[in-house]
Amino acid sequence: MCWMRGCFDDYHTTTGRSVTMGEKGSVATAGVGTVVLNVIVHAKTRKIKLETVLHVPTVGFNLMSVGMMEERGAKVSFKGGKTIIKISDKVAACGTRRSGLYHLDMAPLSDIAAVASLQLWHERLGHVNVAGVKRMIKNNDIDGLKCSFMAVKDVCEPCVYGKAAVTPMPSAGGGRVTKRLQLVHWDLGGPMSEPSRGGALHFGTFTDDFSRWTDVVFLQKKSDLLSEYKKWLIKAQLQTGTKIKILRSDNGGEYVSNAFKALHDENGTTHQTTVPDTPQQNGVAELLNRGLVEMARTMMRHKNVDQDLWADAIKTAVYIKNRVTSRALPVGKTPFELWTGNKPNVSHMRVFGSTCWVVLHKSHIDGKFGDTAAKGVFLGSPDGSKAYKVILDDGKVVKARSVVFAETNETEVAEVAEELPGDEVVEVETGLRSASDGEDVDADHDDKDDKQDDGSDKSADDNQCMAALKTRCVGAAERGDHLSSTGAR
Ligand SMILES: [Zn+2]
Repeated sequence: MCWMRGCFDDYHTTTGRSVTMGEKGSVATAGVGTVVLNVIVHAKTRKIKLETVLHVPTVGFNLMSVGMMEERGAKVSFKGGKTIIKISDKVAACGTRRSGLYHLDMAPLSDIAAVASLQLWHERLGHVNVAGVKRMIKNNDIDGLKCSFMAVKDVCEPCVYGKAAVTPMPSAGGGRVTKRLQLVHWDLGGPMSEPSRGGALHFGTFTDDFSRWTDVVFLQKKSDLLSEYKKWLIKAQLQTGTKIKILRSDNGGEYVSNAFKALHDENGTTHQTTVPDTPQQNGVAELLNRGLVEMARTMMRHKNVDQDLWADAIKTAVYIKNRVTSRALPVGKTPFELWTGNKPNVSHMRVFGSTCWVVLHKSHIDGKFGDTAAKGVFLGSPDGSKAYKVILDDGKVVKARSVVFAETNETEVAEVAEELPGDEVVEVETGLRSASDGEDVDADHDDKDDKQDDGSDKSADDNQCMAALKTRCVGAAERGDHLSSTGAR
């Protein structure tokens, strides 16, 4: 019995069938098919094929029945906390006992999970144009962009509606600056048609002309811009070790208050405003904001995401835009690289709005056969971190590190996570999580959302992630095929 559709080959749906699961009572099955497992036998990875496996999407774990194995000619023995499954007197798989259940010894899927099709990368990267993704793969411009096959759909429907792919990145007009923060473009977007969950109606972007690195802030009202600008200024100047020289915006009233003037004077910043009705003067910021809105709209349409989650979509669009190459920049360079000096790694990125399951910590699991995962919608990576922000079906927002995704279709492919840079501790996990893994789900509600969620938690998140994050494949591999000695299935 397996809960993840993505683990199946050769799949047939079933209707009206169910299995009985101890305390959980009767649970509906969605289908039946073949599952191939990568198991470890004598320190080597081996594939075993299981037939007539039931697909039970709601249980959150996988089980193999000892009784069924015996029926089909396998010999199963248990000794000293270990189990050995033999077929025709050859060892086919082994398991280890933990928390009263035997867990199959599985190979990590890290290499497999990182590989995706060109179409999937096009979707993960906010439907940026396919030629650009191909170029980045070919030239190795960014890390973690592993592509298994160069297939794309003839027509990508969200692109057709959202126009994301045809919006050119704004190219630099006139002479280019040579350093970060020499010139920053500044623009407000909105008001949006409805407030975000965090109550924002506007968003503001700060885009460094040299690197095209963009930061975004979300505002309930335009007058919040001053306080958001102050926070951004401190952060940007600290990150670059340099002061902002020129800030360019249109001459909207929100940019030209006395308080702003005083702040610019104090900081030695020249504020340039563009002449009304000549938007090309501030074209970088305006085109950028339009592009962000289009990308956000495309991603939201693709996964039918609720409208009040637009701020997360915009934020994800900025996150993506900072990590892809553009014609406005030197060949092969991304804003991320020009801003930080390092190539971005995109291996953790998943399609915005995808259905996903957050793997719950043991303390959240109700009894031995309680659900070990909570379903939700993927809302992007919180600032600077490689954790995943997820809004669960009950409306709670969590940041999680062990998440299983169904990216390509609501019920089709479940796959995940792989190694991340700096992640040295690779543990193969099977089954229920151990108590020491307690940090997987940050219980802190993210209700503060937009406004405060501006990167202030960056360093803490980064550190935690680098040390502890191995977002695991919780597919057949690591989720663990609980090998129940009681014959339950
Ligand atoms: Zn597309």
